[in-house]
Amino acid sequence: MGRYTGNKCKLCRREGMKLFLKGQRCFTDKCALSRRDYPPGVHAQKRTKVTDYGVRVREKQKLKRIYGVMERQFRLYFAEAERLKGNTGETLLALLERRLDNVVLQSGFALSRNHARLLCNHGHFTVNGRRVDVASFQVRPGDVIAPGTKENTRKIVAEAVEVNKSQPVPSWLEVNRDALSSRVVALPRREDVPHPIQEQLIIELCSK
Ligand code: SF4
Repeated sequence: MGRYTGNKCKLCRREGMKLFLKGQRCFTDKCALSRRDYPPGVHAQKRTKVTDYGVRVREKQKLKRIYGVMERQFRLYFAEAERLKGNTGETLLALLERRLDNVVLQSGFALSRNHARLLCNHGHFTVNGRRVDVASFQVRPGDVIAPGTKENTRKIVAEAVEVNKSQPVPSWLEVNRDALSSRVVALPRREDVPHPIQEQLIIELCSK
């Protein structure tokens, strides 16, 4: 699946909120949004009336950008969320939260979402002892995620853990920082998703 390779801070500026795409930098005053709190582009500051449709599109773009998924893959997640039982919006968020790269990031094993994705795609992580090299792999309750046994891999992950040691861990994950492992103890619930997303607007847009 493709991925966005352009300027990440422009995405935050376009959405008018921090999407936390650059790791620790996002928490410092080097954050582009704290210095240029307006959309990128020459004409972007022109006052334009945002339609209801526009509001919904922005909400969808926000969600896609937070998790780093492109339109095609997002549509697959949405179709799966519609197919599964339960609230479609909450299921959609849970599917995105259960991506392996997200678990690696939330466990503090990577410096940013892109870093987590790269580590996963290069096969640096195992799930239940088996190497997995697909960042979109869906974890399940009971799964144990850990870096591979290569010394270099463990060193990279240990460094990230040190950097992220004050980062809170969501309640659906149990992280052992000394052993460098993370266990999925439950499915993520709506309150476990830290992003201010109005999923109902996305459902209204995509269900048409
Ligand atoms: Fe967004 Fe982080 Fe860039 Fe700030 S530093 S604009 S939060 S990606």
